[in-house]
Amino acid sequence: MSGISPADEIRALEKRYHFRFDKSLGQNFINDETVTEDIAAACGAHPGSLVIEIGPGMGFLTMALAERAGKVIAVEIDERLIPILDKNLLLYNNVEIINQDIMKTDLKALIEEKGRLEDGSKPEDIRIVGNLPYYITTPILTALLEADTGAESITVMVQKEVAERVMAEPGTRPYCVLTLELSYHGVPKLVREVPAELFVPRPKVDSAVVTLTLVKGGTVPVGDKDLLFRIIKAGFGQRRKTLANALVLGGFAKDAVSRALEEAGIDGGRRAETLSLREFADLADAFRV
Ligand code: SAM
Repeated sequence: MSGISPADEIRALEKRYHFRFDKSLGQNFINDETVTEDIAAACGAHPGSLVIEIGPGMGFLTMALAERAGKVIAVEIDERLIPILDKNLLLYNNVEIINQDIMKTDLKALIEEKGRLEDGSKPEDIRIVGNLPYYITTPILTALLEADTGAESITVMVQKEVAERVMAEPGTRPYCVLTLELSYHGVPKLVREVPAELFVPRPKVDSAVVTLTLVKGGTVPVGDKDLLFRIIKAGFGQRRKTLANALVLGGFAKDAVSRALEEAGIDGGRRAETLSLREFADLADAFRV
C-alpha cells in the first residue's frame, strides 16, 4: 500500500472490510508514523517488555509497539475489527489480540495467563499503552491504577483537555481529583500534542500523549490511602466552599476537621484546589492522630 497517505490507508481498509466507524466506541484511528513511533518510544518498551494495549483499532499503533516489545496483548472490544487486525498484524508473531471489553478484563489474570514472552520467559516489565476511547478515558485510567498489574508505566493518548488535567498544578482550573489520583500513583509527563486532523475520522478536539511512570507504594507516604482519597473527593465535591466547610459537607465531623486542619498546619479557609498532594496526605495523617 506504499504511496498512499496514512489516512487513505485507513479509508481503504474501511472500504475493503465494509467497516463503519462507531462513534459510540470512540473510534478515531491514527496511522501517522511520527505519532505511533513517539507513543511506542515514550512507553519505554524493549525486547524484555510485555505491552498491554487498550483498543488497538486497525493495529497501526500495535505494529509500532510490536517492533519494540517482546510481546503485545491488545484488548479490542469491537469484533468487526478482529479480521482487520489479523490481516494487518499477520507478520507479527508477538501480538495476541483479545476481543474483550477492557472494563470487564481482569488485567492481572490476563497477564498471569498470557503474559509470557515468545520464548516462554516471564517479561522483565509491563507497560500499558493506548490511544484511549474518549468516552471512557477517566474510568479506564482509574481502573488501571487500581488493577495492581505491577506495570512500570501507563502511556495514553487522551483529549488535550484531559492531558491538561493530568499535568495541572495546584491552584489552576484543570487541577482536579484525577490529577491527584494520577500524581499519587506516579510521575506524569507530557509527551506531545496531536492535532485533530491526524485522526480518521477527525474528532472535534486535539489530543495529547501523556506517560505516567508508576511508583510502587505511591509518590507520597500516607497512613491510609482510602482516607486520603475520601478527603480529596470531599474537598473537590464542593469546589466553591472553603476546605473546612467542604469536608464537613462531605461527611467529616466538624470537630475532627478543625483538629486535623490545625494538626496539619493547613488553613481551613483555603479551597481544596490549592492544596498539593503532600498537603492532602498530611491532612489525612492528621485525621488519624
Ligand atoms: N489504537 C487505535 C489507533 O490508535 O488508531 C484505535 C484507537 S480508538 C481512539 C479507540 C479504540 O478502542 C477503538 O478501536 C475502539 O473500538 C476501542 N474500544 C472502545 N471501547 C473499548 C473497551 N471498552 N474495551 C476495549 N476496547 C475499546
